[in-house]
Amino acid sequence: MTWEPIEKPWNDISVEYCDVCGNLLIRRFWRFTTCDGVELRACSEDCEGLHARLHPPTRPGVGRD
Ligand SMILES: [Zn+2]
Repeated sequence: MTWEPIEKPWNDISVEYCDVCGNLLIRRFWRFTTCDGVELRACSEDCEGLHARLHPPTRPGVGRD
């Protein structure tokens, strides 16, 4: 959905990782919301599409009966 900067104090040495592929997030991350309404941080816009393929939307009721 949008690029957001990673802003930390100089003495913060914690690191952030892409919620989709696990890559290290450097300086900025791609924030998006999944079809399930979960907000995730990714290393690139491509990871949003990757996540959609890995976790296709669940449609209750479809495929049953
Ligand atoms: Zn990623």
